[in-house]
Amino acid sequence: MKALVISDKVIEGLYSPAVRQRFAEVELVISCGDLPYYYLEYLISTLDKPLFSVRGNHASVVEYGSHGERTEPWGAIDLDQSVVECNGLILAGFEGSMRYNEGPFQYSDQEMRWRVAQMLPQLFLNRALRGRYLDVLVTHAPPRGVQDQPDRCHTGFQVFRWFLQRFEPRYMLHGHIHVYHPNIVTRSLFHKTEVINCYGYRELELCPIGSSGREGRKQEEHGRSARPRRLREGYVEGFLESDSQLADETQQ
Ligand SMILES: [Zn+2]
Repeated sequence: MKALVISDKVIEGLYSPAVRQRFAEVELVISCGDLPYYYLEYLISTLDKPLFSVRGNHASVVEYGSHGERTEPWGAIDLDQSVVECNGLILAGFEGSMRYNEGPFQYSDQEMRWRVAQMLPQLFLNRALRGRYLDVLVTHAPPRGVQDQPDRCHTGFQVFRWFLQRFEPRYMLHGHIHVYHPNIVTRSLFHKTEVINCYGYRELELCPIGSSGREGRKQEEHGRSARPRRLREGYVEGFLESDSQLADETQQ
Protein backbone atom coordinates (compact mmCIF):
# COMPACT_ATOMS: atom_id res chain seq x y z
CA MET A 1 0.00 0.00 0.00
CA LYS A 2 1.47 3.31 -1.04
CA ALA A 3 1.78 5.80 1.80
CA LEU A 4 2.89 9.40 2.02
CA VAL A 5 4.70 9.88 5.33
CA ILE A 6 5.50 13.39 6.56
CA SER A 7 7.27 14.81 9.58
CA ASP A 8 8.77 17.88 11.21
CA LYS A 9 9.04 20.16 8.19
CA VAL A 10 6.43 21.77 5.94
CA ILE A 11 7.38 20.94 2.36
CA GLU A 12 6.26 23.69 0.02
CA GLY A 13 5.62 21.27 -2.85
CA LEU A 14 3.22 19.27 -0.69
CA TYR A 15 1.34 22.38 0.37
CA SER A 16 0.22 23.03 -3.19
CA PRO A 17 -2.52 21.74 -5.51
CA ALA A 18 0.15 19.78 -7.45
CA VAL A 19 0.15 17.27 -4.62
CA ARG A 20 -3.14 15.80 -5.79
CA GLN A 21 -1.72 14.59 -9.09
CA ARG A 22 1.76 13.73 -7.83
CA PHE A 23 0.43 11.53 -5.03
CA ALA A 24 -2.69 10.23 -6.74
CA GLU A 25 -1.72 6.62 -5.96
CA VAL A 26 -1.26 7.22 -2.25
CA GLU A 27 -3.80 5.34 -0.14
CA LEU A 28 -3.00 6.81 3.23
CA VAL A 29 -1.03 9.64 4.80
CA ILE A 30 0.93 9.31 8.04
CA SER A 31 2.33 12.19 10.08
CA CYS A 32 5.11 11.55 12.60
CA GLY A 33 4.54 14.90 14.28
CA ASP A 34 5.77 18.46 14.73
CA LEU A 35 3.72 19.71 11.79
CA PRO A 36 1.11 22.48 11.90
CA TYR A 37 -2.50 21.35 11.92
CA TYR A 38 -3.38 23.48 8.87
CA TYR A 39 -0.80 21.52 6.80
CA LEU A 40 -2.33 18.18 7.75
CA GLU A 41 -5.82 19.50 7.05
CA TYR A 42 -4.70 20.71 3.63
CA LEU A 43 -3.40 17.23 2.74
CA ILE A 44 -6.57 15.57 4.02
CA SER A 45 -8.81 17.78 1.94
CA THR A 46 -6.60 17.78 -1.17
CA LEU A 47 -5.70 14.08 -1.30
CA ASP A 48 -9.00 12.94 0.23
CA LYS A 49 -7.29 10.00 1.94
CA PRO A 50 -7.20 8.98 5.61
CA LEU A 51 -4.46 10.69 7.60
CA PHE A 52 -3.08 9.11 10.78
CA SER A 53 -0.96 11.26 13.04
CA VAL A 54 0.93 11.48 16.30
CA ARG A 55 1.92 14.75 17.93
CA GLY A 56 5.51 15.83 18.36
CA ASN A 57 6.95 17.86 21.20
CA HIS A 58 6.38 21.05 19.18
CA ALA A 59 2.69 20.41 18.52
CA SER A 60 0.41 23.30 19.33
CA VAL A 61 -1.97 22.81 22.22
CA VAL A 62 -4.23 25.30 20.40
CA GLU A 63 -3.68 26.44 16.82
CA TYR A 64 -5.39 29.58 15.54
CA GLY A 65 -6.30 30.04 11.89
CA SER A 66 -8.74 31.71 9.53
CA HIS A 67 -11.26 28.94 10.24
CA GLY A 68 -11.08 29.33 13.99
CA GLU A 69 -9.08 27.56 16.65
CA ARG A 70 -8.46 23.85 16.93
CA THR A 71 -6.72 21.57 19.39
CA GLU A 72 -6.13 18.86 16.83
CA PRO A 73 -6.04 18.64 13.04
CA TRP A 74 -9.61 18.37 11.79
CA GLY A 75 -10.27 15.10 10.03
CA ALA A 76 -7.04 13.39 11.12
CA ILE A 77 -7.04 10.14 13.09
CA ASP A 78 -4.98 10.44 16.27
CA LEU A 79 -2.81 7.32 16.53
CA ASP A 80 -1.44 8.06 19.99
CA GLN A 81 -1.86 4.91 22.12
CA SER A 82 -4.22 3.57 19.47
CA VAL A 83 -4.18 0.50 17.28
CA VAL A 84 -6.11 0.81 14.02
CA GLU A 85 -6.48 -1.08 10.78
CA CYS A 86 -6.44 0.60 7.36
CA ASN A 87 -6.99 -1.59 4.29
CA GLY A 88 -5.46 -4.60 6.06
CA LEU A 89 -2.48 -2.70 7.48
CA ILE A 90 -2.33 -2.58 11.29
CA LEU A 91 -0.93 0.68 12.67
CA ALA A 92 -0.22 1.80 16.21
CA GLY A 93 1.39 4.96 17.54
CA PHE A 94 2.87 6.99 20.38
CA GLU A 95 3.19 10.76 20.46
CA GLY A 96 5.83 12.92 22.09
CA SER A 97 9.50 13.07 22.90
CA MET A 98 11.72 12.52 25.92
CA ARG A 99 10.94 15.05 28.67
CA TYR A 100 13.50 17.87 28.65
CA ASN A 101 11.47 20.80 30.02
CA GLU A 102 7.91 21.33 31.18
CA GLY A 103 6.40 21.59 27.69
CA PRO A 104 3.49 19.48 26.48
CA PHE A 105 3.79 16.09 24.74
CA GLN A 106 6.96 15.14 26.60
CA TYR A 107 7.39 11.98 28.65
CA SER A 108 9.99 10.37 30.87
CA ASP A 109 11.09 6.84 30.04
CA GLN A 110 8.96 5.61 32.94
CA GLU A 111 5.87 7.47 31.68
CA MET A 112 6.34 6.09 28.17
CA ARG A 113 6.65 2.56 29.59
CA TRP A 114 3.28 3.00 31.24
CA ARG A 115 1.76 4.36 28.02
CA VAL A 116 3.09 1.34 26.11
CA ALA A 117 1.72 -1.01 28.78
CA GLN A 118 -1.77 0.39 28.27
CA MET A 119 -1.66 -0.63 24.61
CA LEU A 120 -0.77 -4.26 25.27
CA PRO A 121 -4.34 -5.68 25.46
CA GLN A 122 -5.09 -4.33 21.96
CA LEU A 123 -1.90 -5.88 20.59
CA PHE A 124 -2.60 -9.29 22.12
CA LEU A 125 -6.12 -9.15 20.71
CA ASN A 126 -4.67 -8.54 17.24
CA ARG A 127 -2.37 -11.50 17.68
CA ALA A 128 -5.33 -13.71 18.58
CA LEU A 129 -7.62 -12.46 15.81
CA ARG A 130 -5.20 -11.65 12.99
CA GLY A 131 -2.10 -13.70 13.75
CA ARG A 132 0.16 -10.68 14.27
CA TYR A 133 0.46 -7.78 16.69
CA LEU A 134 0.90 -4.89 14.25
CA ASP A 135 2.58 -3.96 10.97
CA VAL A 136 3.58 -0.33 11.47
CA LEU A 137 4.59 1.54 14.62
CA VAL A 138 4.32 5.32 14.19
CA THR A 139 6.06 7.54 16.74
CA HIS A 140 7.56 10.98 16.93
CA ALA A 141 10.73 9.95 18.80
CA PRO A 142 13.05 7.12 17.75
CA PRO A 143 14.08 4.14 19.87
CA ARG A 144 17.06 4.66 22.21
CA GLY A 145 20.29 4.14 20.31
CA VAL A 146 18.65 3.81 16.89
CA GLN A 147 18.83 6.97 14.79
CA ASP A 148 18.54 9.10 17.93
CA GLN A 149 20.97 11.74 19.23
CA PRO A 150 22.81 12.13 22.54
CA ASP A 151 21.16 15.32 23.87
CA ARG A 152 18.24 14.76 26.21
CA CYS A 153 15.56 16.16 23.88
CA HIS A 154 16.59 13.89 21.01
CA THR A 155 17.34 10.76 22.99
CA GLY A 156 15.08 7.90 21.98
CA PHE A 157 12.89 5.87 24.32
CA GLN A 158 14.30 2.67 25.79
CA VAL A 159 10.88 1.05 25.85
CA PHE A 160 10.59 1.37 22.07
CA ARG A 161 13.52 -1.06 21.75
CA TRP A 162 11.65 -3.56 23.88
CA PHE A 163 8.48 -2.94 21.87
CA LEU A 164 10.21 -3.72 18.56
CA GLN A 165 11.85 -6.87 19.92
CA ARG A 166 8.65 -8.13 21.52
CA PHE A 167 6.04 -7.28 18.86
CA GLU A 168 8.18 -7.26 15.71
CA PRO A 169 6.36 -4.72 13.53
CA ARG A 170 7.56 -4.61 9.95
CA TYR A 171 8.20 -0.87 10.05
CA MET A 172 8.74 1.84 12.62
CA LEU A 173 8.24 5.36 11.26
CA HIS A 174 9.50 8.26 13.34
CA GLY A 175 10.49 11.92 13.05
CA HIS A 176 11.99 14.35 15.59
CA ILE A 177 15.57 13.95 14.32
CA HIS A 178 16.13 16.66 11.73
CA VAL A 179 18.26 15.59 8.83
CA TYR A 180 20.72 18.33 7.99
CA HIS A 181 23.62 16.20 6.83
CA PRO A 182 23.93 13.31 4.40
CA ASN A 183 25.83 11.23 6.95
CA ILE A 184 22.84 11.01 9.27
CA VAL A 185 21.44 7.50 9.12
CA THR A 186 17.73 7.59 8.30
CA ARG A 187 16.94 3.91 7.65
CA SER A 188 18.19 0.94 9.60
CA LEU A 189 17.17 -2.52 10.66
CA PHE A 190 16.59 -3.16 14.36
CA HIS A 191 15.76 -6.77 15.17
CA LYS A 192 13.12 -7.47 12.46
CA THR A 193 11.89 -3.90 12.01
CA GLU A 194 12.92 -1.38 9.41
CA VAL A 195 13.25 1.89 11.33
CA ILE A 196 12.74 4.91 9.08
CA ASN A 197 13.22 8.58 9.94
CA CYS A 198 10.54 10.37 7.90
CA TYR A 199 11.83 13.95 8.30
CA GLY A 200 10.34 16.06 5.48
CA TYR A 201 8.47 13.44 3.54
CA ARG A 202 8.75 9.94 2.18
CA GLU A 203 6.71 7.95 -0.26
CA LEU A 204 6.74 4.37 0.99
CA GLU A 205 5.22 1.07 0.00
CA LEU A 206 3.97 -0.36 3.30
CA CYS A 207 2.91 -4.02 3.26
CA PRO A 208 1.39 -6.06 6.05
CA ILE A 209 3.61 -8.73 7.59
CA GLY A 210 3.52 -11.80 5.36
CA SER A 211 2.84 -9.92 2.15
CA SER A 212 5.71 -8.89 -0.11
CA GLY A 213 4.12 -6.03 -2.09
CA ARG A 214 5.85 -4.16 -4.85
CA GLU A 215 8.83 -2.95 -2.82
CA GLY A 216 9.38 -6.39 -1.30
CA ARG A 217 9.29 -8.05 -4.71
CA LYS A 218 11.71 -5.49 -6.10
CA GLN A 219 14.18 -6.22 -3.31
CA GLU A 220 13.81 -9.95 -3.80
CA GLU A 221 14.43 -9.60 -7.55
CA HIS A 222 17.69 -7.84 -6.81
CA GLY A 223 18.66 -10.43 -4.23
CA ARG A 224 18.74 -7.86 -1.45
CA SER A 225 17.36 -8.28 2.00
CA ALA A 226 16.52 -5.51 4.43
CA ARG A 227 19.69 -4.52 6.24
CA PRO A 228 21.12 -1.42 7.83
CA ARG A 229 21.75 1.15 5.15
CA ARG A 230 23.26 4.56 4.99
CA LEU A 231 21.31 6.32 2.31
CA ARG A 232 20.77 9.91 1.34
CA GLU A 233 17.24 9.12 0.27
CA GLY A 234 15.92 10.19 3.66
CA TYR A 235 15.31 13.66 2.44
CA VAL A 236 16.18 13.83 -1.24
CA GLU A 237 13.87 10.93 -2.06
CA GLY A 238 11.21 12.31 -4.37
CA PHE A 239 10.86 15.33 -6.56
CA LEU A 240 10.36 18.21 -4.23
CA GLU A 241 13.74 19.06 -2.81
CA SER A 242 16.78 19.29 -5.04
CA ASP A 243 20.34 18.50 -4.05
CA SER A 244 21.18 22.21 -4.25
CA GLN A 245 18.49 23.03 -1.69
CA LEU A 246 19.89 20.28 0.47
CA ALA A 247 23.39 21.72 0.18
CA ASP A 248 22.06 25.14 1.23
CA GLU A 249 20.48 23.61 4.30
CA THR A 250 23.62 21.74 5.22
CA GLN A 251 25.62 24.95 5.26
CA GLN A 252 23.24 26.74 7.63
ZN1 LIG B 1 10.27 16.80 17.77
